[in-house]
Amino acid sequence: MTSCPQCHSEFTKKNHYHMFCSYTCKDQYNKGKTWVGYFKKLLNNNAKERKKLDADMLFKKYTVQGGRCAISGVQLTKIVGQGPITTNASIDRIEAGGKYVESNIRLVCCFINSWRGKITDEELIWWCQQIVEKEDTWILGKSGIIRRSMRNIKALLSRKAAGLLEAVRDIKWRRRE
Ligand SMILES: [Zn+2]
Repeated sequence: MTSCPQCHSEFTKKNHYHMFCSYTCKDQYNKGKTWVGYFKKLLNNNAKERKKLDADMLFKKYTVQGGRCAISGVQLTKIVGQGPITTNASIDRIEAGGKYVESNIRLVCCFINSWRGKITDEELIWWCQQIVEKEDTWILGKSGIIRRSMRNIKALLSRKAAGLLEAVRDIKWRRRE
């Protein structure tokens, strides 16, 4: 399944060039502000640093990512002229501080980009975890002290993040002793 760049609905591609769910969407997309146009605007900021990137390549990334933020999975937007929009697409370097080259970039929400700053994905997840867990309380279970919402949190995380969670829990255990 592919996400239509205009209406974001899911559809099955008939061939490599099939990009929109309908002719109406294709027409609206081509008439209105396009993603390629939006990306061109993005590239004009810090044009020198980003000279190895181009709008078509960014649009390809957008399509591959299904129109969603590479970190949060939130639907990307391209709303201009309304001040800062947290969900607007922005160019993120996978290796923070690394080069603006195709292999090192992905599209993420503006908010995620500014929040992540220069830290790694793992560190970002760790911080998210701290926020989620802040409200948690320790309760006594059959096998000792367990976290009330640990099961729910784990279900939401990728295996990698879950491993990180174990490590965080370990640290907390040690601190408690
Ligand atoms: Zn559509």
